[in-house]
Amino acid sequence: MTGFDLVIKRARIDDDKDLVDIGISGGKISKIDKNLSAANVIDVNGDVVVPSFIESHIHLDKALLERVKPNLEGTLAGAIKITGELKKGFQYDEVLARSRAVLEMLIAHGTTYVRAHPDTDPLGGLTGFKVMLQLKKEYANAVDMQVVAFPQEGIIKLPGAFEILEEAMKLGADVVGGCPYNENSYEDTKKHVDLVFGLARKYKKDLDFHADFGDNPDDLRYRSIDYIIEKTIKEGYQGRVTVGHMTSLSSIDPALLKDTIARMAKAGINIVPLPATDMYLSGRGDVNKVRRGVINPKPFVDGGVNVAFSSNNIRNAFTPFGRGDLLMIGSLFEHAAQLGSISDQKLLLKMITENAAKILRISDNYGMAVGKQADLVVLGTKAMSDIFLDVPVRKYVIKKGKVVYRSELLELKNWM
Ligand SMILES: [Zn+2]
Repeated sequence: MTGFDLVIKRARIDDDKDLVDIGISGGKISKIDKNLSAANVIDVNGDVVVPSFIESHIHLDKALLERVKPNLEGTLAGAIKITGELKKGFQYDEVLARSRAVLEMLIAHGTTYVRAHPDTDPLGGLTGFKVMLQLKKEYANAVDMQVVAFPQEGIIKLPGAFEILEEAMKLGADVVGGCPYNENSYEDTKKHVDLVFGLARKYKKDLDFHADFGDNPDDLRYRSIDYIIEKTIKEGYQGRVTVGHMTSLSSIDPALLKDTIARMAKAGINIVPLPATDMYLSGRGDVNKVRRGVINPKPFVDGGVNVAFSSNNIRNAFTPFGRGDLLMIGSLFEHAAQLGSISDQKLLLKMITENAAKILRISDNYGMAVGKQADLVVLGTKAMSDIFLDVPVRKYVIKKGKVVYRSELLELKNWM
């Protein structure tokens, strides 16, 4: 068969099978076979080719602020306070410049799907949210973006917060966010959950919570998952609710954890641990046996819960590190959660591709199969199982069949 717009030759897409050629036409994968030809060919000589990565949870609007004002205390409360102060002075063009810089980091590291969570609250107003709407349009050829209206500062505790959230829904938010831990009482946490479910129903959108981000599961504001499960089932929202962080689950009784996982699976709730932030901010009160905070994904996966992971914050008061690279976050995660086997390596890749696609509900059009959108990354490694060991160079990033990024690395071995 000829007539392809582009053929990627000799690609490694399965460690246990022969190399294949990937034929692309009209922005989609149109054939995966051997000996395909086209005028436009990239011969990758056995390099791994995977579907491009998905950042299911990231804050572009408040990235790159670490050097402006660092979080010397190192706690979550400190991070929210410092960022809140900075947010009051946010100027559109400055937020745009930082957000754009991070978005370009993501693309250069093989990510072409982004669920962005801009702070949408009375402190920063709609500035970050509107910047995301602009970037969604501006980068449409390289990134499919979903924008979450995210009430970082709480809803009940802050007058005007709900109104701004609803304004963002009217302006076209793709997803309703929630931050139920940031309220003054568990009663308000539940009210917060009720309000965002109300918005989700009204605007027919999915929900994405920052939830249970704390070390102490005895404080019920950090155990909102039980109420979220209850609401999800009651509202018929199975498969449409995602919870990020959930660090308090790493501190609860194992029997209770098992029960929670079973109920989350029944409610079809997705979970997104955020290893960089979770590890940086958790266990700050521990003087010995310091908790990692980040959950181990395996009991969740084994229990039937869909798990992804994501970057969350890049170089700010919540996480002073990062370069917008999901493979680097995966490397951190595999150390923290002790994911060392070959099957663990497969799970890590699945979490930032197939599993994250379920969260964004794009699975119909995403993946390494004929008929799917041709969104691919060519990695400078020869085995799928080495991806998170090598953290390889991203040689080509392809979006809708077009190369949107190519690495300029020219290798020289000149030591003999
Ligand atoms: Zn977040």
